[in-house]
Amino acid sequence: MNSSKIILSRQALNSVLVTKLKQLSGTSIRNCMQCGKCSAGCPMAGFMDHAPSRTLRQLQLGQHAQVLAGRSIWYCASCETCTTRCPNGVDLAAIMDALRKLWWDEQGRSEEKQVQLASRLFLDNIRRYGRQHEMRLGALFNLKSGKLFKDLALGPKLMARGKLKLTQEKNRNLAEIEQIFARIEKMRQKGKTP
Ligand code: SF4
Ligand code: SF4
Repeated sequence: MNSSKIILSRQALNSVLVTKLKQLSGTSIRNCMQCGKCSAGCPMAGFMDHAPSRTLRQLQLGQHAQVLAGRSIWYCASCETCTTRCPNGVDLAAIMDALRKLWWDEQGRSEEKQVQLASRLFLDNIRRYGRQHEMRLGALFNLKSGKLFKDLALGPKLMARGKLKLTQEKNRNLAEIEQIFARIEKMRQKGKTP
């Protein structure tokens, strides 16, 4: 085996970024043994420039800049399939969250702006209604992304099938949902969560 690779890997595993990742995600990239089960189950792997297990290997080898500059972290849907499948207890979904926070802290912006926008609007709907409001989500996304007519032709078809409604009822447990958001905001302010 190439000894320079081993030295690089040891240095990478002791880097500040790896420590920070562990603090943010509560999991260590050291525990990944590259079995690939996470990548095999990831529904978004086909959209990423590197599959989840490959992303972890890049981190183990110190290729942090490439990971943060790539699109994989922005295409992760936080579905937690990888976390559930990992035989070694690596919480890869939490690592993806932590990487997005690191990128945000370093750059103050995302290259995948539309992914960020969709994510923000999605969560805003959940906070307002306690459930998703697809019509509002689509309309606001088109408006704010400057793509006014995107998927417009699909609207009437979805409405005819009852999949898209003009109004949305609020979830009766909205107060509890608001408490969750407030708790996360507090944790963020204390730097305890991505
Ligand atoms: S399933 Fe776990 S151990 Fe296997 S490659 Fe993915 S993160 Fe690594
Ligand atoms: S949490 Fe992200 S990386 Fe993990 S399986 Fe889901 S989409 Fe893939």
